[in-house]
Amino acid sequence: SAHHLLELNDLVGQTCEVLRPLAAKSNVEMIVDLPDEIVSIDGDPAQVQQVLTNLITNAVAAMPNGGVVTVTLAQRADDLVQNQLAEIRVTDGGVGIDPQDVERIFEPFYTTKDVGQGTGLGLSIAYGIVREHGGNLRFDRAPERGSQFTVTFPVFAPE
Ligand code: ADP
Ligand code: MG
Repeated sequence: SAHHLLELNDLVGQTCEVLRPLAAKSNVEMIVDLPDEIVSIDGDPAQVQQVLTNLITNAVAAMPNGGVVTVTLAQRADDLVQNQLAEIRVTDGGVGIDPQDVERIFEPFYTTKDVGQGTGLGLSIAYGIVREHGGNLRFDRAPERGSQFTVTFPVFAPE
């Protein structure tokens, strides 16, 4: 693993700023919700940025007529293992994912996009990176319509 203290607040904020013009081209507004407290993990910045980029570009692509993508960062207690988790959520109001496709979306080369539009690698790569960091990546239907992807990492615990 990477063994670098990585503060997620700046990384998440900067990644969203980099992608904001791309989203704007599709009339997609990005709302970024960062906590006041610094949330840190043991991670590789380029790889975590890749995860976020893959999730956000998917979210934008799911709203061809525009909309809103919300990116949130939070730290919360995990009930199961009783430690703190860093949680990044990317929520869109797009087309959503059919139940029969859900179990395949993390497979390499699985895509529902037209030839030349998608490689089907984005989620597979994101999942691999997250797992290598000891974290998890899951899909849920968004509260209204669309999709919500949740990334969790163990928070950085020195000693
Ligand atoms: P690609 O984007 O190249 O198709 P991904 O691995 O990034 O490959 O995504 C795989 C598939 O998962 C997409 O083709 C799409 O069907 C579905 N998907 C991923 N993210 C979203 C999203 N936010 N909204 C709707 N469908 C999605
Ligand atoms: Mg993709």
